[in-house]
Amino acid sequence: MRTMDWQPSKELIQWGNEHFGMLAKDSVWSPEDSGVQYRKMDDNKFALIFMLNHPLAQEHHEKFSLLMEACGYEVEKPDGLQMVTPPLNPIQQAEMQHEMRQKIAETWACECGFPLANCDLEQRVDEYVETIDADVGDGQTTPVDIWRCIIQCSACGTDLSIDPDDYHLLAGDSLFMSWTSSTHHYTALTRAQLKDFADAGLFTDGYSANITVLGEKVGDEKVPSWLWGISVISKELNDEEE
Ligand SMILES: [Zn+2]
Repeated sequence: MRTMDWQPSKELIQWGNEHFGMLAKDSVWSPEDSGVQYRKMDDNKFALIFMLNHPLAQEHHEKFSLLMEACGYEVEKPDGLQMVTPPLNPIQQAEMQHEMRQKIAETWACECGFPLANCDLEQRVDEYVETIDADVGDGQTTPVDIWRCIIQCSACGTDLSIDPDDYHLLAGDSLFMSWTSSTHHYTALTRAQLKDFADAGLFTDGYSANITVLGEKVGDEKVPSWLWGISVISKELNDEEE
């Protein structure tokens, strides 16, 4: 029995047909901030695999079920589904969400089946896509750079283009906060490292030539936007080869 009179729009159903159709079997659909996750069981069935103990999550589940059914899928809600109660502490909430996302990232795989988490994540190429006017509310927009991270599948050699946030989930902070230009490799410095360098007199005695702060560009090369304003240590690529 459904109490909801909400119905998915034509556009939403069209989106669902495309998006749900593209998902591989066993992949997880986890709409952001929805409190629910689904696994695609086969070509015409999804199963609810996670649900937050929250009234909005229940509502989202009802709406997603209506959408998936309108797209021709059966939606299963397992009897033993464990509801997860979100912590009240916002920091713990953020940690829980991060852990959930990381768990999903562990299931991502190349088309050949090889897990992305096992690819050589250190070998990443950052590709600038375009600058868009992003909506920041109240009819205001701000320019935002869109980037893609290219990694190579270690099994079949295919170049895989992934969202920087997804790369961050897979590779963690230290790899994400580094960048290779055509001439240098840059690694972000933590506050503790900067403090140690400061204590060692690096910034007052003039030895800090290879420590710098990244802006929008180095020379003519665009810097990935997540590294703008970050203190980094740079190393010439030739140095590493020698
Ligand atoms: Zn592959």
